[in-house]
Amino acid sequence: MAKTDPNPHAIIFPYPYQGHIAPMINLTIKLASIGFSVTYVNTEFIHHTISKSQSADFNGPFDEARKFGTDIRYRTISDGFSLEFDRDLNFDEYWESMFTEFPARVDEFVRDTIESDTSGAPFFLIADTVYSWPATIAKKNNLVNVALWTEPATLFSINYHLDLLKQNGHLPYNGDGDTRISYIPGVQSISTKDMMSYIQDPEAIPMLFKIMVKAFDQVKNADFILYNTVQELESEALSALNEKHPTYAIGPINFFNECKILNIAKSLWAESDIIRWLESKPPGSVMYISFGSIAQITKQEIEEITHGLLISQVSFVYILRPNDLESNETNIFPFGFENDIIDRGFIVPWCNQNMVLSNPAIGGFVTHCGWNSIIESMWFGVPMICYPFFVDQPTNRKLVVENWKIGINLCDGDQIKRHEVAHKIIILMNGEYSIKLRQEINKLRKVLHNALDIDGSSQRNFDQFVEDLKVRLY
Ligand code: UDP
Repeated sequence: MAKTDPNPHAIIFPYPYQGHIAPMINLTIKLASIGFSVTYVNTEFIHHTISKSQSADFNGPFDEARKFGTDIRYRTISDGFSLEFDRDLNFDEYWESMFTEFPARVDEFVRDTIESDTSGAPFFLIADTVYSWPATIAKKNNLVNVALWTEPATLFSINYHLDLLKQNGHLPYNGDGDTRISYIPGVQSISTKDMMSYIQDPEAIPMLFKIMVKAFDQVKNADFILYNTVQELESEALSALNEKHPTYAIGPINFFNECKILNIAKSLWAESDIIRWLESKPPGSVMYISFGSIAQITKQEIEEITHGLLISQVSFVYILRPNDLESNETNIFPFGFENDIIDRGFIVPWCNQNMVLSNPAIGGFVTHCGWNSIIESMWFGVPMICYPFFVDQPTNRKLVVENWKIGINLCDGDQIKRHEVAHKIIILMNGEYSIKLRQEINKLRKVLHNALDIDGSSQRNFDQFVEDLKVRLY
């Protein structure tokens, strides 16, 4: 690259779900802060959903970043459905169209963006790994293709080796009970029951399995793969993957731009303000409970958890999204629950999770084990109680509880029971075991913070990625 060459221009497509949007926004800001031009493309539906959650007119999540002179262009593109169309209820129809019709729209958008540019900048494509089309569209438009994987590298390796699982008779897994698998490169011995839900039972949600198979077929053609993880955390998986593809662990991406992360508009739901209430609580005294943006819970699970909270006597912030519940029941709390929790608990539909986790009053996190939530909990040194639902969550749980020992299970059997919930909450908040968990998570907290230091592994990997990318582009 000569001094006079224009800077590279990234066209970026996040996957249209909460857990994938924040890392892509932060990657965008990071690239723009080193002088790249970036065109960031949300679907109109996601744009509309985030707009609704904001109090003022919403021009995209980059207003703050633009104040620093960055060149970020925020665009939207139709996913082919009306805003009212229920994408969760019609999951199969939605995703069938995202395989067949959406890529043509993306292709046209990419072509128009490149053709209307007069700067002479070399363009490249960054898309979420879970999309099925980036490699094809990049090739068609002669672009370098960068995939962003927003889950642990361990799960990438498992997905990458579905053929191995098939050959060994573990996909689908028809055996009874529990079998340990130790043949996946870079993946420590793992039980079949800890596999991602779509591997344990591909027929449960066939479209989900299809999405992952297509995604991992295409990602084999990516030029670069970025991971929202940290070298020191998953060195074996990353080394194994690096033998196949240029692999860069650059996480935790959500804390790249730490000074700004707390107020970037990225939430699909309006954030309730609970910080003043938290500030009135003693350090380490409040349990935070959230099951992320997708998981759905049954009335019976809510009952056991809420009774467990009452029995434990621990204060809490409980996030219950409007679409959290599996059924449409409205009377979801046990009789008298709301009266019992006055002063002791807060139930809100959504919050700014990083602000909550960073508050000293928070002493533990009951989590569904979404990867962002785990990384955020590690970043703030908050030990976890794990209650995974589906997709990547059972496998992430295994990493938290077995590999890193920074969390415990909410229930050890098949059924969630209120007395066990209370017991787990109490031992996580206080006592000997709690101290041990806190020591372990504080070690990892340091690992994560160090990784983003100027000479930390993620910063070095990011710099290396930029250097390698420029060699390809110029
Ligand atoms: N989150 C939030 N407010 C909430 C609950 C969650 O901001 O009340 C954010 C959380 O910080 C995380 C994301 O939503 O970044 C959820 O992602 P995760 O990977 O944990 O789970 P998913 O929603 O993908 O299942």
